[in-house]
Parts: sequence; C-alpha cells; structure tokens
Amino acid sequence: ISACLVGSEMCIRDRIYRSKYGIKRVFRREISMQLHGSGRINSQGHLEIGGVDTCSLVEKYGSPLFVYDEGLIRDQCRRFHKALSKSGLDYHISYASKAFICKELVRIMKEEDMGLDVVSVGELYNALSVDFDSQKIHLHGNNKTEYEIGYALEKNIGCFVVDSLAEVERIDSIGGQMGKRAKALLRVTPGVEAHTHEFITTGNTDSKFGLNIDNGQAREGVEAILRAENIDLIGLHFHIGSQIFGTEGSQAAIKKVFVWLKDLKEDLDFEAKILNIGGGFGIRYTDEDISYPIEDALEEIITCLKESARSQGLSIPQLWLEPGRSIVGEAGYTLYRVGTIKEIPGIRTYVSIDGGMSDHIRTALYGAKYEVALANRMNEKDASLVTIAGKCCESGDLIAKDVRIPEAKIGDILVVACTGAYHYSMASNYNLMQKPAVVFVRGGKDKIVIKRESLEDLIKNQV
Ligand code: PLP
Repeated sequence: ISACLVGSEMCIRDRIYRSKYGIKRVFRREISMQLHGSGRINSQGHLEIGGVDTCSLVEKYGSPLFVYDEGLIRDQCRRFHKALSKSGLDYHISYASKAFICKELVRIMKEEDMGLDVVSVGELYNALSVDFDSQKIHLHGNNKTEYEIGYALEKNIGCFVVDSLAEVERIDSIGGQMGKRAKALLRVTPGVEAHTHEFITTGNTDSKFGLNIDNGQAREGVEAILRAENIDLIGLHFHIGSQIFGTEGSQAAIKKVFVWLKDLKEDLDFEAKILNIGGGFGIRYTDEDISYPIEDALEEIITCLKESARSQGLSIPQLWLEPGRSIVGEAGYTLYRVGTIKEIPGIRTYVSIDGGMSDHIRTALYGAKYEVALANRMNEKDASLVTIAGKCCESGDLIAKDVRIPEAKIGDILVVACTGAYHYSMASNYNLMQKPAVVFVRGGKDKIVIKRESLEDLIKNQV
C-alpha cells in the first residue's frame, strides 16, 4: 500500500503517470523501493541499473558508490525539450549544476543541447574544463566576488543573474575596466513561495536572494541596470522553491511578474526578452511524493505565460528553465556495505553502513526520506523494521528511519534510491571520510566518472 492512501484524485493521476512514464514498483507483499528508468531485478535477484548488476559494481569499485542511470538523465533532458518545443515558444533549458556536476555530466548536457546554470567560479571552471559553450552558461549567486565576475566576463558567459544592487555596480565597474559588456537577468522575489505540495504567497522580503517586487527594490534594480553603461538587461528571473508538485505557485508568480512588467513598460519602456522561472520540479523520493509529470506542469506554465502576456498587452518572452533535481535525482543510487547490526530489544535495530552524512546529508539536514533495499537480495521479503545509520560521529547521521528491508546481514549491499541530486554535490570530508566514486551505467556498460578520493587526496592541501 502506498500512494493510494493520499487521495483518490491524486491516486488516479499517480497511476496514469506510472504507466505513462514506466515507473515500476517491485510488487512484493511489503514493498520498499520504486525503480525508475532502467532499474530492474535480474535473474540473480540483484538490482540492475543500465543493464549492469549493481553488486558487481560494488565488487569492482568498492563502496560507498554512486551509480547513475545515464539513459534516464538523457531521457529527462529530452522530456523537457519535447514539451517545450511543441509549445512553439522560444525557450532555453539550463541544467542547474548545483544538483550534481562532473565533466562527464557536462559532456552529456552538451550532447542533450542543454545550457548550464552555475553558482560559483568552481562550477563555471568545471563546465569550461570540457569546452562547454560559455555563451550557454549563466552565473547565479547572491555574493559574486570580483574575481568571479572578472572570470565570468573574461570567459564570455551568456549572462549574469544579477542578485543585488551592489552587484549591478560591481559588474558595471569590472566590465568597464575590462572593456566588456555583460548581459543580465535580474533576480526578483515575486512574493510567492512553493515547497513540495504547497505554495504560499508571502511578503518574501526576507530572502537573501534577489530583489523584492513589492517593496520597490526590484524596480530600483531594473533602473540601476538600465543606467549602467556596461550591462544590458535582457530579462527577469525568479525561483520560488524546490521539490514542487503542481504549478499553482509558478502561475501565481508569473501573473504577478507580468502585472509588474506592464508598469515597467509604461514607466521605463523596458520589456523583458527573457523570463527565467528557475527549477524546482519535484521528484519521487518515496511514495509520499505524488507524481506531477513535467509535461503537464510545463503545459500549465506555458498556457499561463501566454495568457499573462496577452492580458497585459506584452509580447511573450523567451521561457528559460533551470531544472536540477528533476534531471539527475531519480537517476542516482547510492550503494553501501552493511557493516554493523545492532538490535536494542524493544526499541529499534540499527543497520550501519560504510558511508553516512558525508555522502548523504539531506536526511540529517532536513529529515528527507528515502527508499532503501538490499541490492543483493531484491526478491526477498521485507521482514524487518530497521533504521539505517551512517558511520559519522553524529547521532543524527541517519539515512532512513523505520524502514522495512529483508533481515540484514553483515556484508549485504544496501541501496538508497533517488540520490542523484544534492548528494555528491553536497558531500563533505567530515570525519575525514573519503568522497565515494561515481559510476555511470548505460546499455550494459559502466564507466567511472569520478574516482574515489584517496587518503592522500584528504591531506594534499595540508602544509
Ligand atoms: N535555480 C535556482 C536559482 C535554485 O536555487 C535552484 C535550487 O536551489 C535550482 C534552480 C534548481 O532547483 P531544482 O534542483 O529543485 O530543480
């Protein structure tokens, strides 16, 4: 039993989605894990991804190990392209690199005709290291340093997403010194916030990101950029939240922005050529996350965009998106070895694995929930209720609380699904844990894309 308890309408929508987009659930009596993309159980009862047995991957590369279903990453990019291209709008999709970046992923983004959203000189450097077209990159950040701005100008990035009044001056002055003209979107906060299943309209003035429409700062930002000698204002940006299901929040934000844009047109003769509405499309970590297909969401957003422009008498801007989680989240799995099993009679059983909050921080950070299974015993009955614990020195270092798996044994391979986004990219060396290796699988082949950190790597910058 699972999503059907949430509500009949959601349940029907969820079932249609599953059958339309091929999400499989392993139908055992007491079930644990949904399999996305190419995930399946092979004849040995092992989890297989991209045609590769995940247990053999652990034998080959060790654990913990991140495994990505490359085919699923590519499919997600194609779903966005397909939905947007049929709308007839001019559009641009930038993958939000903060979700996960490495050279191989950048190469894939290039092949899938995606742009890149980067938030630091580090992400920009990583993108450029494999000759990604700098014109298809935009730079975010609420405190871009002079070094970052200079570097981005030197590399001729497509545009800056300007976040503050101070930044307008900074870009203008550095651009002037370098003899470069920058293109910019202004990041605004439209007074709408959305997270998972809900959205709220808020004052939204208390955010470190962007300039607020209601208190007049966003307008000051527009005026400042229009006055700047070395910056061209080409549009606006907002991002109302992450892991969102449904489009009510995005639609409310779009409508609000267009009302404001009408004033800007009348008062300042400014028209946005581009409207970037950020990322935030939700993914199915567990059955509590009710499906909202990208295709349906985009259709609703595009209709709202066209209607809002029409009702304000404005032309329809290019639509830009910055999905991160929805491109890589469901494609990623983490594999661990079970090391210690401790039963506290009458209380709980802890199953400890060889990684932890150093490679999986979201559960400790904000209680994020995940589905887990034993990758080497996928067909066995989920017989025990356990808590999966990491090996870092924090009691809160948990991977999943009160989950059902088969009776675990030392040496089993525990798999955590949906770890493709904000896992490796948020990994740390806490407790001097070595960051795991990352492997991409597709068509029965595996390739290592990030090596496991060595002990030497851990101390190489120490003097
Ligand atoms: N754009 C901006 C400005 C963001 O802050 C984020 C996430 O924090 C994203 C895009 C990507 O969001 P998601 O991974 O939820 O698609």
